[in-house]
Amino acid sequence: MNNVPFDKTFIEGVTAEHPTPFHIYDEAGIRSHARRFIGAFDWVPNANGSAGGFLNYYAVKALPNPHILQIVHEEGMGFDCSSFTELVLMEKMGISGEQIIFTSNATPAYEYAKARELGAIINLDDLTHVDYLAREVGMPDLICLRYNPGPLKEGNVIIGNPEEAKYGFTREQLFEGYRKARDHGATRFGLHTMVASNELNPEYFVETAQILFDLVVELKERLGIRIEFVNLGGGIGIPYRPEQVAVDYQIVSAGIRSAYESTIRPAGLDPLRVVMENGRVVTGPYGWLVASVVHRKDIYKHYLGLDGNMAHLMRPGMYGAYHHITVLGKEDQAATHLYDVTGSLCENNDKFAIDRSLPPVEVGDILAIHDTGAHGHSMGFNYNGKPRCAELLLQEDRTVKMIRRAETTEDLLQTIIW
Ligand SMILES: *Cc1c(COP(=O)(O)O)cnc(C)c1O
Repeated sequence: MNNVPFDKTFIEGVTAEHPTPFHIYDEAGIRSHARRFIGAFDWVPNANGSAGGFLNYYAVKALPNPHILQIVHEEGMGFDCSSFTELVLMEKMGISGEQIIFTSNATPAYEYAKARELGAIINLDDLTHVDYLAREVGMPDLICLRYNPGPLKEGNVIIGNPEEAKYGFTREQLFEGYRKARDHGATRFGLHTMVASNELNPEYFVETAQILFDLVVELKERLGIRIEFVNLGGGIGIPYRPEQVAVDYQIVSAGIRSAYESTIRPAGLDPLRVVMENGRVVTGPYGWLVASVVHRKDIYKHYLGLDGNMAHLMRPGMYGAYHHITVLGKEDQAATHLYDVTGSLCENNDKFAIDRSLPPVEVGDILAIHDTGAHGHSMGFNYNGKPRCAELLLQEDRTVKMIRRAETTEDLLQTIIW
């Protein structure tokens, strides 16, 4: 949870033009984090063996707004796409080739065709997709396969339970997958895994790297296949709760580097590029859902009724996720009151917070709900006919630009055949 980069007076200036609710994203915060994040991995070799081989493919689904994507691209990130529409967004932005990795599952052929057309790196989710891709759209030169480590021999508490996840190849299938891909004409290979989400333990990412490095060595030994990059997936967590601590990139980087030195280098497999595909950590902490208190209700419990609702932020209702809340103008007051902070949907889980301690709140107060810069607006839905809200960008010069307008009732009725 970050400090809010605006105060009540500033937001009152914004609401004069853009009524609540809206998400607002902090450009300066996104940029400075991106530099720190990428900078931590400056030792990673590129294909020629010199530095600069680290790349984070920003997971587009986290915040698929081209203004934000442009900012993270300017900071040196590529993109992880998972659907046709996300690929079309890339096309409209003029981004193509190996700046994009396409990671999908249960993928229809037309999505692979689009990925191929853009020259994106295709990351296959299953053994049967090797033949499917070759048959439907042709095997590209460069192909990546997604590994699901399943029941790891030594049982790894950090990695959790990938056996229950629908993604990826088993270990044995991977060997067959690379063999088949080579038979279909692939000449360049990547290896991917992603087995956790919102993980705050830096050691987790080091373990993941070690598992992939060991596989890279075994693939070389058993098949003669030389992997050119490993993709550790996304999933770096963010401290949603005030008592949580952000992942220390220096620890992650140093741990991965030492695994590289002890596994990849002695096997003669250097240079191997190391890439990731984080979304949440890149933009999550730099977004706030700003909503006004429209009603207060006192029955068996005390409720605040906002003009924002689940359509704008699903995570609390969907996973019981914690999002910190600041009452603008009351930052220094003691949190003496207990509230359920609710939206207006006919769903009892339309709550941004349950039993949250806040300063006394009045109708008309403006709340900033933290960490909505990833899996926030993009996860919204239109149940109950609720339009999704606008997205604003707080630019580096402190001016505010609307980067997506709010949906209207007309937008929602547009697809009906009358
Ligand atoms: C969702 C997803 C990501 C991004 O996850 P974050 O938690 O936003 O970092 C990356 N890769 C794949 C395959 C995903 O499904």
